[in-house]
Amino acid sequence: MFEGGELGSASKRIALQRIHKLFQLARDTIVEDEKLAQRYVDIARKLSMATRTSMPLEYRRQICRECKRFILPGVNCRVRIQQRRETHIVVTCGYCGTYIRYPVKVGRVSKNEIKKKP
Ligand SMILES: [Zn+2]
Repeated sequence: MFEGGELGSASKRIALQRIHKLFQLARDTIVEDEKLAQRYVDIARKLSMATRTSMPLEYRRQICRECKRFILPGVNCRVRIQQRRETHIVVTCGYCGTYIRYPVKVGRVSKNEIKKKP
């Protein structure tokens, strides 16, 4: 075994591709088979931990931080938008009721995103 060996970027890329695939399968399955969808998500989480690949933010937000269940807006969680001071999205887990809040930037466009008129 190598001490402090880093996984090559190729392995991480493959892990990330598998994570994308697993989440895609989970989304396609959740309505018909919630347990199977959860299994895909668990595999994706284990894969991300085992390979130390960080889970993309959009997927981290689809896993309840409390019960680790796969939550998908319109399926098993509620999404509310709060507009106090800063706009926040509040996602309530449909299993354990934990809320996950995260800010959203509205109306702020970075310079890079502004396209020049032709
Ligand atoms: Zn939960």
